[in-house]
Amino acid sequence: MSLASTPTLILGGTFDPIHVGHLRAALEAAEAFGAIVRLLPAPVPPHRPQPWASAADRLAMLKLAVNEQPQLQADDRELRRAGPSYSVDTLGELRTELGADTPLMMLVGADAFADLPSWMRWRELFELAHVVVLTRPGAVGRTAWSAELTALARSRETTATGALLAAAHGSLLCLPVTPLAISATAVRAALQAGRSLRWLVPEPVLDYIEQHRLYRATNR
Ligand code: ATP
Repeated sequence: MSLASTPTLILGGTFDPIHVGHLRAALEAAEAFGAIVRLLPAPVPPHRPQPWASAADRLAMLKLAVNEQPQLQADDRELRRAGPSYSVDTLGELRTELGADTPLMMLVGADAFADLPSWMRWRELFELAHVVVLTRPGAVGRTAWSAELTALARSRETTATGALLAAAHGSLLCLPVTPLAISATAVRAALQAGRSLRWLVPEPVLDYIEQHRLYRATNR
């Protein structure tokens, strides 16, 4: 593969906190495309309640989680930008940095993808990047996609990873990943109920949560 076709993959999210569901899905996407996945914590996610942990704590946990895993990297660009963070702006910034020809892929979980038409300037996302949908237990299946998403899939979907590597942007691909029914909501709930988080989040993240007393019901 020529250097010019080495793709850039990103996975944005609240990561409140990062958990094994994120990490395993990101790693499998990295392996599918032979590339690094950058994990981008969002400061004020549009359409979402405010995070429980501060941006600094969420970034610190993300860095601990990807430490010594060369296929995954923390990217704090959205935290350095003022105001709400829209994927279309982030992809535009990356496209400027990468140039017109480098394949750029935005990874999203199947639950997030089902809401894509509510995202800011969502159709423009495909002029900047490919979209790779990561399967996720509990997410609505394609039979429940909106008419807009069904039409989008009809015109843009491929099952060939090579098709995404051969173009800079414009395609949709659903990537089956190991189904892990883990969510940050369930991680926080387990902690607040006094249950163990072991094997739901990496050990160093678990230690960080304990040390900083994060996600206690009283310190929101
Ligand atoms: P919350 O429970 O707080 O809503 P979350 O677990 O969904 O959080 P996010 O940070 O919102 O985590 O997720 C970031 C991205 O990772 C989203 O695109 C989401 O769909 C995807 N994702 C999260 N968990 C999984 C999982 N277990 N399997 C596949 N994709 C996932």
